[in-house]
Amino acid sequence: MRTDLFIGNEWAPAASGRRFDVQNPATEELLASVAEGDAADIDRAVAAARACFESAEWRGLSARKRGALLFKAADLLASRLPEMAELETRQNGKPLFESKIDVSSTVETLRYYAGWCDKFGGETVPVDGNFLTYIRHEPIGVIGAIVPWNFPLNIAGWKFAPALAAGCTVVLKPASETPLTALLMGEIFAEAGLPAGAFNVVPGHGSTAGSALVRHPDVDKISFTGSTSVGQRIMQDAAGTVKRLTLELGGKSPNIIFDDADIAAAVRGAQTGIFYGKGEVCAAGSRLLVDRKVKDQVVEQLAARCRKLLPGDPFDKTTRLGAVVSKKQQESVLEYIGTASNEGATLVAGGKAATVNGKGFFVEATIFDDVAPTMTIAREEIFGPVLAVLAFDDEEEAVALANQSMYGLAAGVWSRDIGRAHRVAHAIRAGTVWVNTYNMYDPAAPFGGYKQSGFGRDLGRTALEGYTETKSVWIAL
Ligand code: NAD
Repeated sequence: MRTDLFIGNEWAPAASGRRFDVQNPATEELLASVAEGDAADIDRAVAAARACFESAEWRGLSARKRGALLFKAADLLASRLPEMAELETRQNGKPLFESKIDVSSTVETLRYYAGWCDKFGGETVPVDGNFLTYIRHEPIGVIGAIVPWNFPLNIAGWKFAPALAAGCTVVLKPASETPLTALLMGEIFAEAGLPAGAFNVVPGHGSTAGSALVRHPDVDKISFTGSTSVGQRIMQDAAGTVKRLTLELGGKSPNIIFDDADIAAAVRGAQTGIFYGKGEVCAAGSRLLVDRKVKDQVVEQLAARCRKLLPGDPFDKTTRLGAVVSKKQQESVLEYIGTASNEGATLVAGGKAATVNGKGFFVEATIFDDVAPTMTIAREEIFGPVLAVLAFDDEEEAVALANQSMYGLAAGVWSRDIGRAHRVAHAIRAGTVWVNTYNMYDPAAPFGGYKQSGFGRDLGRTALEGYTETKSVWIAL
């Protein structure tokens, strides 16, 4: 596959000539050597995106034709699903079945926003006086999309699909661990007939390429998904040019099991809530809050399931726990496991590094019981397959514990009491609450955070609006 920068529908090496290695975390094999973009390359990509944004070819394209291009891209992506999913698994380490879900979701996201193109209109408003006053939603301009390594293509799609649908152009900076599916997406968009410069991909490091994109005066908005600490840095760097921002940041999401829940379903939900995606999921249910009356029962059942959830070859159909993304991430997760033990939490399952066929950066599915809300493991995002179990005595305490976090991305509630389910869903300060389910996403449902989990939303009509400026036009009658 092509491993150069994708700018203006052409492939080009980095201006510096530098390249960086991409490694398969499950086998430790070298996968590719990719062009390493920096400020000079970001400059070229932004110029291409700006020229396209101003061009008659893009600005003059009707909304319906823009939609047709996105539908075409969705069809092409769907036809290359096996290849794309395989590439995602090779660079990220996640089981192949998860990558297939990721690619299918991206197809759905593209189709959802393709459908919006010719249905997203303005409105007239009833002002005082003799005027016709109407509101237009105009594309913001050039979007810098900066994404993490956990759902490399899928999260990029949460940005490029609504941005292109709104009539913006895009410069995508994928995570340096996982640039390959983004590059393949460039090829697909070009084949779909997107004009040169509408979609560009510049792989590189955050501190160079990423930072240059955020500071660039000709970029109108940054749509970022990643850690809260990098999000804070981006807010500072964006201030100089008063850039619009969408920030999807970290999480420490509570998954709450009440004693009136269907316990077997709740245990399954707790398991997928933390171990799907090896726990490298922003919305992972990493804090399991359980009613003390059923806690031992829940922990016992969960630990039994967890011991069967063995790290495996991501290409094996039966594997449900892949490799974490890198050695660095494995070390960070293991350090949190050590801290949890030192701070007095009880290790119930897992807790160690693992290999598959003697290779790879795996971590066992790990559960800690007897976690206090003040412990590091209850407060900080680990971003790995590590669950912290905390007990509560009543609904009020459950809500207080759930909200006792600087994050507010998502939450789960397991209860058969419909009144309680709604009460708790309303009381939790998070952008998504799942009741008797977990980790559900749909292009139509906005996703994003409260508090330090960020602001702005991906997905839904809300995201589309986020790629537009609102203009009021007054006509004296
Ligand atoms: P990260 O913040 O380290 O990196 C994310 C992206 O930002 C990468 O492309 C990186 O190169 C770039 N970057 C780093 N420094 C930068 C800088 N100074 N300027 C501009 N760009 C810079 O995150 P990660 O380790 O790749 O991903 C894990 C984090 O992402 C977790 O905190 C997770 O919760 C979060 N995440 C959030 C969501 C969400 O929707 N809220 C979804 C997935 C992941």
